[in-house]
Amino acid sequence: VAQPAFRDRLEWSADGGIEVGDIRYLIIRTDSLMGLFSRLDEEQRRTALEAFSQSVAEHGRNSMIAEMRRLNVDGEGFYWHLSTAGPSQLGWGHWHYTRPSADRIEVEVDNSPFVHGIGSATHPVCSPIAGMLTAIGGLIFNGSADAREESCAAMGNATCKFVVQRAA
Ligand SMILES: [Zn+2]
Repeated sequence: VAQPAFRDRLEWSADGGIEVGDIRYLIIRTDSLMGLFSRLDEEQRRTALEAFSQSVAEHGRNSMIAEMRRLNVDGEGFYWHLSTAGPSQLGWGHWHYTRPSADRIEVEVDNSPFVHGIGSATHPVCSPIAGMLTAIGGLIFNGSADAREESCAAMGNATCKFVVQRAA
């Protein structure tokens, strides 16, 4: 049975919420969001980006667990689902997965909204994607994972590249 797409499950409530089930979302301009980071000095910015990553890893994990339950898949089934899915319906760009080994996943992201919102930077800015990949990697590996952004389009690269590895 085909599952309804995320965008078809979004509901605009009468009291001004946007929800999928119990989860509430927010639509915000990319420049409004990323302007927060632009206004911080570099050390504060790195701290805030890392906190954003950890927050997404924690809360995104709950969404991903719910998604696995909805799809009725285990970690490997979830990888297959993610790696064959189209562009992010949450607006987080187009993620391309490769799997060099059982314990390593590489993800190339085109059109990151976080790059779009900040323009250029001297360091990676897509920490929410790294956080989501930390959550996703943990579920695929059925343990824990480390995800980091190796190169970011904000630094002048064509795409953003992430490495996700099983953590000890
Ligand atoms: Zn990036």
